[in-house]
Amino acid sequence: LQQKLIESEKLSTIGKLGAGLAHEIRNPLTSIIGLTHLMKENKYKAEYLDIITAELERMDNLVNQFVSYGKPTTINRVSCCIHDLIRETVELMKNNARLHNVNIYVECSVKDAEIYIDKHKIKQVLINFMKNAFEAMPDGGNICLGIETDLKNNEFHICIKDEGIGMTKEQVDNLGKPFFTTKENGLGMGLPICFDIIHAHNGRIEFHSEKGKGTEVYLVLPQNNE
Ligand code: ADP
Ligand code: MG
Repeated sequence: LQQKLIESEKLSTIGKLGAGLAHEIRNPLTSIIGLTHLMKENKYKAEYLDIITAELERMDNLVNQFVSYGKPTTINRVSCCIHDLIRETVELMKNNARLHNVNIYVECSVKDAEIYIDKHKIKQVLINFMKNAFEAMPDGGNICLGIETDLKNNEFHICIKDEGIGMTKEQVDNLGKPFFTTKENGLGMGLPICFDIIHAHNGRIEFHSEKGKGTEVYLVLPQNNE
């Protein structure tokens, strides 16, 4: 019996993982299929290819994340402009935001600041937080992305603020545990991956949330650690 239980638990975990991966991949896939149909009808625009490439890269990253989860996170740091990184990420999320009736505001007080990070992985973290914010606002709303430097502590602070459903204290305490999800189609793997990536950068994540009011996520990254 014990063995059977373990087997069925394994199967249900695999099922959950599969459902989650399918869910994550469906959005970029739908947009790629739509664009290739347009191109077949000769409504070709050069920017379609850029979008297709970006969506394919996103799917590639997702699959890589899945197969690498549980293994130690390795990061490849490059020097990059934090403001550019935020702009590129917002650009990637624009279609998604429109679909969710969400407005994204960026408040960046450090326009030309450079940060030494794994750009791909931090982008993935920001995308995960923004998706959670969208999903917390089923009727749409505003997301504010704020970027500041804490010169005293040599840190970057990135804040992602939504006006969504918020969380209870108990929910906040569970954040980052693998498979913790309150969503019907949720997977509960987004935040564990984010925590891994931020810890690999020697940074930290803080949540302030109130049920029914909204959530603020603070990402803290050390400024110079080459
Ligand atoms: P998933 O999105 O698949 O559920 P995550 O690891 O991304 O998995 O998030 C885990 C849980 O944390 C969510 O199911 C939700 O309950 C909660 N959560 C995360 N971000 C937010 C947010 N911005 N607002 C409300 N709840 C959130
Ligand atoms: Mg999520």
